[in-house]
Amino acid sequence: MKRSIIIIAAFLLTQFAMAQTPDAKMKTFVDALMKKMTLDEKIGQLNLPGSGDIVTGQASNSDIGKKIKEGKVGGLFNIKSLEKIKAVQKVAVEESRLKIPLLFGMDVIHGYETVFPIPLGLSCTWDMKAIERSAQIAASEASADGICWTFSPMVDIARDPRWGRIAEGNGEDAYLGSQIAKAMVKGYQGDLSKNNNIMACVKHYALYGAAEAGRDYNTTDMSLTRMFNEYLPPYKGAVDAGAGSVMASFNDINGVPATANKFLMTDVLRKQWGFKGFVVTDYTGINEMEAHGLGDLKTVSALALNAGIHMDMVGEGFLTTLKKSLSEGKVTQQQIESACRLILEAKYKLGLFDNPYKYCDENRAKIEVFTDANRKEARQIAADCFVLLKNQNNTLPLKKSGTIAVVGPLADSKENMPGTWSVAANFSKATSVLTGLKEVIGDKAKILYAKGSNLDADAAFEERATMFGKSIKRDNRPAADIIAEAVSIANQSDVIVAALGEAAEMTGEASSRTNLDIPEVQKDLLKALLKTSKPVVLVLFTGRPLTIKWENDNVPAILNVWFGGSEAGYAVADVLFGDVNPSGKLTTTWPQNVGQVPLYYNYKMTGRPLPEGKWFQKFRSNYLDVSNDPVYPFGYGLSYTSFSYSDIKLSSSSLKGNQTLTASVTVTNTGSKDGKEVIQLYMRDVIGTNSRPVKELKGFQKIELKTGESKTVSFNITTADLKYYNTDLKYDWEPGEFHIMIGGNSKDVKFAKVNWAK
Ligand code: BGC
Repeated sequence: MKRSIIIIAAFLLTQFAMAQTPDAKMKTFVDALMKKMTLDEKIGQLNLPGSGDIVTGQASNSDIGKKIKEGKVGGLFNIKSLEKIKAVQKVAVEESRLKIPLLFGMDVIHGYETVFPIPLGLSCTWDMKAIERSAQIAASEASADGICWTFSPMVDIARDPRWGRIAEGNGEDAYLGSQIAKAMVKGYQGDLSKNNNIMACVKHYALYGAAEAGRDYNTTDMSLTRMFNEYLPPYKGAVDAGAGSVMASFNDINGVPATANKFLMTDVLRKQWGFKGFVVTDYTGINEMEAHGLGDLKTVSALALNAGIHMDMVGEGFLTTLKKSLSEGKVTQQQIESACRLILEAKYKLGLFDNPYKYCDENRAKIEVFTDANRKEARQIAADCFVLLKNQNNTLPLKKSGTIAVVGPLADSKENMPGTWSVAANFSKATSVLTGLKEVIGDKAKILYAKGSNLDADAAFEERATMFGKSIKRDNRPAADIIAEAVSIANQSDVIVAALGEAAEMTGEASSRTNLDIPEVQKDLLKALLKTSKPVVLVLFTGRPLTIKWENDNVPAILNVWFGGSEAGYAVADVLFGDVNPSGKLTTTWPQNVGQVPLYYNYKMTGRPLPEGKWFQKFRSNYLDVSNDPVYPFGYGLSYTSFSYSDIKLSSSSLKGNQTLTASVTVTNTGSKDGKEVIQLYMRDVIGTNSRPVKELKGFQKIELKTGESKTVSFNITTADLKYYNTDLKYDWEPGEFHIMIGGNSKDVKFAKVNWAK
């Protein structure tokens, strides 16, 4: 009798387990595991040290290995070695008491070994499929090498090009930023049950890109309306797309560092947006709150946990103080439990409890990383992100014949091509412009090379700007001699390609600049080249908008190539020779000088605006010395062909309530080459209870048009597109007049207006 009861009970339990939803199954699993865990082990899961002192073959005896055995580590990051990852995971699942697997994170920011363009460059493709694909390839390569978690996408809106990390984000627009955030999360995470997808971590939450004066890690202070309308949407986009984790930013926001900011971490992220994953600090974000002046390590660690942080990167504040804080009543058992649960759930979702070596397949590592197929896609995507800024008299594309002088400190520097934050890249496998041009043209044209100038006249600056193995070998001859050599090969050539601008590490973390010119010594080279009267093509490397008004006025052709990744050199050649027609459009405004910063397209009217196209007028909002205009507006970029736009056709000019408005334009390729164009929809809410931006991006479509071909592009606009957060943080729309603008950049647009009643 007793036995049959047990059998029936067991049967019912199995049926119950089978009937459970995946979430309930996960809860049952995590509940059971947590019952076995000590408080120390729970706190241990919240600890994320760097890779530490692991030496191949010695994982178990390393300091970090000892901590893992003691259950004091939840994950590790930035180890690039399948062998080491496997060895450390073995310590966790064989030598720790509860055999809990580790998470392995990495900054896979724009590709793994196959490196894609820096994110600011990628954003200029305006091609969500390509961006998603780049993340998918990055995930497949990283996961083949043991990584299951990436600290990407970085979606910080930035309007200040002095800030070096503008290179890592998607520019200045919240709408475009949130579309890209979604595409990246989708690309990385796809279906997490598979072994070639990894968990995303959206960063740096929040407002990291609004650092005062563009100085990294600096204070941010912002109204809530600006925050909700203009800065938060990309983080929310990533959360809506299901990002598994979020990284707190370093900065303080309206007086409270993000790492202790309960409003952001709990009220907005969890309660308003419904985020269910975990939040990790950025590096020593907890410890840094001591310098912010919030108290000692124990105090700031408790503040972080109370705010809604779950994992402590590097600083071990949680590991060393939370137990004490619990005994003093500064944090609760419940808070520690929920943080631990979220980390275990992430491991569960990644399938690590089923197979801790899910991402450690040596075969995959051998055949799925830096493949020809991945490199081919990276080359195409790189070419598509380049922005043709100027092309007077069709200087470009170059003829595939004659003699080409290739000059400049960036021309023969493969190390600089992957750009900042390319942790997993193998620099020796990247392709420089010189190699790319030579290989693509073969013996059809003759290529001559001279460096022409150093990166900067100041050797100490140059050293700071070429860290992390990205040195540009310095030429110690007098600058005039180096230039003279370049001029002499230029004189023997039909055209000059000058690869100038920033080195990769002139943007990125802690790489802010107050002067956004091309370094003077390079400008001297450019001036000397222009004097030869040969056509000059400036191939501009940069991780930010630069101040190149003089160059725009004086150089016939400028192709901005960002840092295009491992295949950059080939992609530059593809575009220069016209095998790919450039179609990138800027996602940031390019100012005339640093004094105009911040300069962005979606500004608000003042009470004393300057009439468009005018410069100085007394008692108007303008400057004595320069106009308000940028050199290049948001959304700008040329092609080797030309496009014309018809007037806007509206489905109705008077709408009511929840009707849908359709706005269409017919775009025609009027030039002699097939090409791609990004058609951009902007709107303005003319009258409201709050002052509203002069225009806001509300949609875009990238289309391909053969020469002579026309296509009609339509945008459906609903009241959801009219909503904004007002000063009471109410998200709604207000009736009245709306302007509809459609064009190929934010400045040159067709115009129509509608009236929308409630
Ligand atoms: C950066 C993060 C990065 C982290 C881990 C920090 O210095 O701000 O973006 O993910 O390091 O490498």
